[in-house]
Amino acid sequence: MSVSATKKFENFSAWFDDLILKARIADNRFPVKGFVVYMENGAFIMDQIKNLLEQELEKTGHKRMYFPLVTSEDLFRREAEHIKGFSKEVFVIDQGSGEQKLIIRPTSETIMYPMFRLWIRSHADLPLKVYQSVNVYRRETKATRALYRVREIPWNEAHTVHESPSDAEKQIREALEIYQRVLRRLGIGYMIFKRPDFDKFAGAVYSLAFDAWNPDGKVNQVATIHNLGKNFAKAYEIEFEKRDGSRGIAYQTCYGFGFSRVLAAIIAQHGDDRGLVLPPIVAPVQVVIIPIPFKGQEKQIYEYASKIKEEVSKKWRTVLDDREDITPGEKFYHWELMGAPIRIEVGPREVAEYSATVARRDTLERIKVSFNELGDKIEELMKSIEANLLERSQRMMMSLISDAGSIEDVKKILKERRIARIEWCGDIECAERLKEEAGGEVRGERYDIAETPSGPCIVCGRDAKFVVYVARAY
Ligand SMILES: [Zn+2]
Repeated sequence: MSVSATKKFENFSAWFDDLILKARIADNRFPVKGFVVYMENGAFIMDQIKNLLEQELEKTGHKRMYFPLVTSEDLFRREAEHIKGFSKEVFVIDQGSGEQKLIIRPTSETIMYPMFRLWIRSHADLPLKVYQSVNVYRRETKATRALYRVREIPWNEAHTVHESPSDAEKQIREALEIYQRVLRRLGIGYMIFKRPDFDKFAGAVYSLAFDAWNPDGKVNQVATIHNLGKNFAKAYEIEFEKRDGSRGIAYQTCYGFGFSRVLAAIIAQHGDDRGLVLPPIVAPVQVVIIPIPFKGQEKQIYEYASKIKEEVSKKWRTVLDDREDITPGEKFYHWELMGAPIRIEVGPREVAEYSATVARRDTLERIKVSFNELGDKIEELMKSIEANLLERSQRMMMSLISDAGSIEDVKKILKERRIARIEWCGDIECAERLKEEAGGEVRGERYDIAETPSGPCIVCGRDAKFVVYVARAY
């Protein structure tokens, strides 16, 4: 059972599938296409991600609610663009005997907004900011892939309602900050794009998206933020009495954060050929203590290891691996596979010196620490691991970008599992031709930095209007 037999950058799919099963993240063998079983470690990590995000949402005044799983066909069809975007992707419950069919939520606009209409009477009811962490369901027609492209999607969705377009814009910036804070804690390397018009959320004025890099070169969209303008408020009659007494139509935003995709990004970006490398904040086991037995000193070593456990577990999720049927080497191997951020080795020398040998998972470096300094040192190492993962991953993201001056260039860059930066006229025909001939999608303009084109569209030769990034995508 060797993960290293399938290398992360050489054969990503095999590496990933092998790892998620062995590290007890998920079992992809559930016999219905696109549905996955999350095992204890996958479930734990996703819960930690969810907690991190929900704390940020609560801090910024979002209220948790739970809405129904289903909507009616009639409600679902109110917003014309939205229905065009999703109608082929929904699961339908046929109740039979002439009763109305039910639509299972692919996202919850059409479920929440009829209620928003009842709740909002005047400007005093605004802003309204609600969220829920639930599964949504989409009948993916493309090939499904565990965690990345599934039909049951664990996510968090937030929906907000505002008096004015500027309040909605402010909300977009808040959502961006929230998602950035969470993704940074997880060390995820990503770029924020404004999606081209043809690829925005169905019914939105514009959409922003976080694309995380992946070892196989296909970007992984982990979160999106949409300015809905008045489009949905018109369709669902979300009106209110304005400050001047007149009636107005509300402005809305919504944003979604995919838990299984973020879990995939953590595994794919940080993992190595030994297994998972987990950011401390999400690791099910943060510190593992491994006794190195020595004939005649078993008792002292075990007692000292227990004492270290007592100390370390005051602050960290700690396991003392005292299994007697396997060797210390096998334990090292096991906990490297599981991605425990810190390993403490305790043998006769450590007992004699009243010290511990501490190894960090991200760089595999080992250091000797005295017992009295252990608490401070672990704290410092955890911070350093978190910072290193982020720095390493962001550096990787940026190193994947290459400028392309022709379709041929784009093709070559994508073949190298990289991301192409091009100048583009903005026409969907050129984007489609690029997709057909080079196999990559126009992901959009950078939102976090301004880039201005200076030459022609690399496809048609007319003046370019945008600097955009082209990548293959999940
Ligand atoms: Zn063009």
